[in-house]
Amino acid sequence: MKTKTVKRFYCEHCGKGGQSARWILWHEAACTKNPNRVCRYCGERGIPFVGIERPTEQSLAEVNELGPNSREFKADVEKALKATDECPACTLAALRDSGWPMWVFPFEFKEVKAAWWEERNGDARDPSHGVSCYPPIDESGPMPMVARVDGTICEF
Ligand SMILES: [Zn+2]
Ligand SMILES: [Zn+2]
Repeated sequence: MKTKTVKRFYCEHCGKGGQSARWILWHEAACTKNPNRVCRYCGERGIPFVGIERPTEQSLAEVNELGPNSREFKADVEKALKATDECPACTLAALRDSGWPMWVFPFEFKEVKAAWWEERNGDARDPSHGVSCYPPIDESGPMPMVARVDGTICEF
C-alpha cells in the first residue's frame, strides 16, 4: 500500500479549497469576499457599497420564519445591479457583503453573467470592455493560461 499526503489550499476570504496553490491565489485575487478584490469582469476594485439595509437579529429571524418574500429583496438586487453597471461578480460581492443569507435574493448569477457576455458579443477577452483577463472557465478544470488580445499572457 502506498499513501500520499496531498496539500490543500484554502481561500482566506471564503474558504474555497483546492489542490493548486496558484489556482487558489488566482481565485483569491477576485474572490467576492475579498475586500481588496479586483473584478475580472469589470475591472473594479473592492466590494461595492450599494446601500442595502443590513439585517438585525430580529429582521433575520423574521425572514427565516416568513421566507424571502417578507421584504423587498428584489429592490436590493436591482440597486446592486444598477450600482455595479450590471457586473455579475460585483453584484454578487455586494449581496454577499450585505449580511443577508444569499437565498433571500432573487439573483441568478448565471443569468446575469450570460447577459453580461452577450452584451459584449460573447467575447470574454475583448479588452475594449475593461476586462482583459477573465477566461470563460470551468473552475473545476485546470488552471487557464489566458492570452490577452494583444498577445501577452495574463499573470495569475
Ligand atoms: Zn474566496
Ligand atoms: Zn465587477
